[in-house]
Amino acid sequence: MAEKLDTIVAISTPAGRGGIGVVRLSGPDARHIAEKITGIVPRPRYAHHCRFLDRNQQLIDSGLAIFFPAPHSYTGEDVVELHAHGSRIILDILVKESITHGARLARPGEYTERAYLNGKIDLVQAEAVADLIDSVSTSAARSASRSLSGEFSSRLAGLLDEIIALRVQLEGMLDFPEEDAGIPPESNLSLQIGQCIENLGAILQIARQGSVLREGVDIVILGRPNVGKSTFLNRLAGRETAIVTDIPGTTRDMIREQILIDNIPVHVTDTAGLRETGNAVEQEGVRRARTAAESADLIVLLRVQGENDTGDEVSMLPESDVGKTLVIYNKIDLENVPSGVQQQEGRATEIRLSAKTGEGMELFAGWLKDQLGVSNLGEDLFMARTRHVAALEKAIEQLSCARLLASDLHSPELVAEEMRLAQVSLGEITGEFVPDDLLGEIFARFCIGK
Ligand code: GDP
Repeated sequence: MAEKLDTIVAISTPAGRGGIGVVRLSGPDARHIAEKITGIVPRPRYAHHCRFLDRNQQLIDSGLAIFFPAPHSYTGEDVVELHAHGSRIILDILVKESITHGARLARPGEYTERAYLNGKIDLVQAEAVADLIDSVSTSAARSASRSLSGEFSSRLAGLLDEIIALRVQLEGMLDFPEEDAGIPPESNLSLQIGQCIENLGAILQIARQGSVLREGVDIVILGRPNVGKSTFLNRLAGRETAIVTDIPGTTRDMIREQILIDNIPVHVTDTAGLRETGNAVEQEGVRRARTAAESADLIVLLRVQGENDTGDEVSMLPESDVGKTLVIYNKIDLENVPSGVQQQEGRATEIRLSAKTGEGMELFAGWLKDQLGVSNLGEDLFMARTRHVAALEKAIEQLSCARLLASDLHSPELVAEEMRLAQVSLGEITGEFVPDDLLGEIFARFCIGK
């Protein structure tokens, strides 16, 4: 608790040169420290143009000082922003001066952590701040903004209210078993729980899409040497990354790329050509390719259109679900074959295309979005993380248990317990019930100054 009373300081703008740089102070002494540096008594929410002075009254810079009194500030505490010129040296001096006057350097994410601890935002919104700053696509930024504005939180709150209302009914049943006034018959209770599960399912679907936008997908490209893996990767990335040559086995090591395909971050690994070989370096490459394929979300196996399929690359594939494998027949331009998709029950999807000319590449993007369940991204998308998806899945499981138990109400206390657990699972998302170590982990990933 003592630590919470500290006044913290940090540079809030990115490292490097810029027109403006902002140093932010938060805590009970923020205003006092700002007075020492600026020599003025700042009015609330007013942009003062002033001089910044060091402790010997020497001029550091001049700029703006803005005071946001508690609780109407980002952190909920007294906050002062000093807007100086965007020079690292000047901003460092302002931070050092603030420290001499009693502030301490903020930890990463500490402003947002204080906003959370002071009840200004919940955990979903705090995470959305980091996601907004780190967003790599327009969709990701928009959905993080929506989470930050509280849209995800308010839908969760609605669900929590439903669960709580049902728990209240159930508790009544436990306390006064012989009274039936206002208590739902069991079939009605399981219907209501079923409705809750349905509503949770709708949110889960959006959360899954949001988490794909944030976390992306791991794809491994496999295939014998010279089938066009590097060319395909270059075409996806839209630039020259891998070495493209006619000599089989050129891509000895793995090349990792992060690219955006229709707003989805895709982490692609181009592997050494899959081929039985005596060359020790290449053998190691093949071994790594197989390991990468095992842990990948999706596998793309490249072959050359019209070439006899020796089947050797398939035998070298890890035992994997055909559902996560796509077979691409490349170089259709050489055979004059049209591009196209083929889907057969129980077999990997096949796409014919040309990595060199680009024909049929859009079919790949279509397949990818289908696989990820993001073909139709709704307008109501919000940013979500794997931990949110996991908590929603857990709550659905617990409610399903409750529904089953509620279908014949021999043990209402067990139904009540499952409902309580579902409430705790949802509460973990917004931060109502959350272990301290998880909190530490979430805020440690922020940048300093946020
Ligand atoms: P990798 O060993 O699988 O990575 O294959 P590369 O990407 O290095 O390609 C081997 C050769 O095939 C290069 O000369 C490429 O230009 C050529 N190539 C790749 N894709 C196509 C294609 O779609 N059509 C044609 N005609 N040539 C291609």
